[in-house]
Amino acid sequence: MKNLSGKTKFNTAYFFIAMMAVLLIQDIWQATSTTARIPYSDFQKHLKENNIKEVMIGEKNIRGTLLKPGENKANFITNRVDSDLVEQLSKYDVKYTQMIENTFFRDLLSWILPVFIFFGLWVFLLKRMGKNMGGGFMSVGKSKAKIYVETDTKTTFKDVAGVDEAKQELKEIIEFLKNQERYSKLGGRMPKGVLLVGPPGTGKTLLAKAVAGEAAVPFFSISGSEFVEMFVGVGAARVRDLFEQARKQAPCIIFIDELDALGRARGVGPMSGGHDEKEQTLNQLLTELDGFDSKEGIVLLGATNRPEVLDQALLRAGRFDRQVLVDRPDKIGRLQILNVHVKKITLSEKTDLEKVAAITAGFTGADLANLVNEAALVATRRNGDAVEDDDFNVAVERIIAGLERKNRLLNEFERKVVAHHEMGHALVAASLKGCDPVHKVSIIPRGIGALGYTIQRPTEDRFLMKKEELENKMAVLMGGRAAEKLIFEHLSTGASDDLNRATDIARSMVMKYGMNDALGPVTYDKESNYFLGGPSYSPRTFSEETAREIDIAVKGITSNAFEYAYNLLNTNKDLLLESAEKLLDQETLVEEDLQPIFDRLSV
Ligand code: ADP
Ligand code: ZN
Repeated sequence: MKNLSGKTKFNTAYFFIAMMAVLLIQDIWQATSTTARIPYSDFQKHLKENNIKEVMIGEKNIRGTLLKPGENKANFITNRVDSDLVEQLSKYDVKYTQMIENTFFRDLLSWILPVFIFFGLWVFLLKRMGKNMGGGFMSVGKSKAKIYVETDTKTTFKDVAGVDEAKQELKEIIEFLKNQERYSKLGGRMPKGVLLVGPPGTGKTLLAKAVAGEAAVPFFSISGSEFVEMFVGVGAARVRDLFEQARKQAPCIIFIDELDALGRARGVGPMSGGHDEKEQTLNQLLTELDGFDSKEGIVLLGATNRPEVLDQALLRAGRFDRQVLVDRPDKIGRLQILNVHVKKITLSEKTDLEKVAAITAGFTGADLANLVNEAALVATRRNGDAVEDDDFNVAVERIIAGLERKNRLLNEFERKVVAHHEMGHALVAASLKGCDPVHKVSIIPRGIGALGYTIQRPTEDRFLMKKEELENKMAVLMGGRAAEKLIFEHLSTGASDDLNRATDIARSMVMKYGMNDALGPVTYDKESNYFLGGPSYSPRTFSEETAREIDIAVKGITSNAFEYAYNLLNTNKDLLLESAEKLLDQETLVEEDLQPIFDRLSV
């Protein structure tokens, strides 16, 4: 690994020393080449011979020019001795002036030295302050965003397990990088940028490296978060530098980790005025993205766990226009990942990794790598010669405790609630004619915020929706909450996003689409105006009374939806309990698992 950023280190101290040396040499050279030091007696001789054109009188020295130098140098310098000099000079009619002695260096030193001392003191204080503040302070001035390049990542797809879908999608890029000429001859166009989306530790960096390894191309990497604390202009310069370096080594891969730190939507939030630096860096990145042709053989990979905060400009066609989901692994995936990592340790033959995979729901690849390491440590501590089941059990407990503290893992009860919640969505969706079919239900946490998910695959793209369809949609959203109420008789906070979305739909039905009989076919909601990107305040165009009626109507619609969901689940309570149990066990249910369950629904 080579660090490319160190090459332009510039040291001010060296610069000063060099400059002073040059000046000094110049001065000495000038002085010695044309000036001769002569004794005072010679000076007096020249004076008496009327051979002196002019003199400059200093405190200790006299400098002068001879009229006829002869073999001597024309300029001379001598020590000043007598005091009636002026009289004598006047006698022989020599032009004289007082000499300003050359104190340039003395002066220079007298103000440069304090500056140096001051500067040194400042650096010293900053460093100490930096230490007290956790070490980050001094790094402000240095460019922290380092570009790393690895010519051989030594990572292949074999090192990445349990993310087969993502691998499949990245295969095309490897083909392109390998046969770049053939692709460009045929005019094929590759995606310039691919965004790897997924929670931290799921192997996004590893995947990017593996793509480079498989294609045998150099791997450039840089992290978005390192740009945050830079001076204005530095980040942009670094991005330019990165692409310049990459162009020289194409075909290659550029990997930008934590793209969200850099590519956060511009001008959002009250502090948006202070983000000039990030904005400049982001703009530079966009410029570079537009500037290069994928024919050049550069593929940009980005990683983020928060795609929703990314600036839309980054996701436009011709930029990061392809997204690959790198999710937390399911049970089979976890087993595969464990198998990759146990190669590094001595494993007892009796160890059942399948069991380990079963008890590590919610673990990411990084957690599992950590787990294997921890288990080896536990085995070492008890002086065992191989890592056994029990070592894994101890290690799992330790890591789960850590993860729960970090709020990343659900405990047993939470998992149960989530399982019933998600099955609630799924069953309600299956009960309604014309609802998008449910294609996957999972309790593997996805991203941040969502504890589980139910995916409905739309049968066709829809732009117009009937009132019933909107109502159905709301009922499905309410299904999760209804299931929680039915089974656990309490409501959790996990359903807040569902509620938000359901309320939004209800509000739109009443205010935008005029779908409420009491309020009539009137639009109460004007599209909000956007002026220069910021939302402007638009005054309400209806009365207080209408506002209350709207609220009542919205409440009515959402209550109806909830009631439908609750009644349906109540009728099918046994099926709900049974299927939730199955979901808890398998973590993910796909169409084949779900169809038999849905067939037994009584509507
Ligand atoms: P991310 O970039 O998504 O945060 P990393 O790629 O940095 O995650 O993963 C950190 C480490 O976790 C890797 O170096 C690897 O040891 C391990 N790891 C993560 N995901 C996997 C996986 N799918 N297969 C094997 N190891 C993995
Ligand atoms: Zn839900």
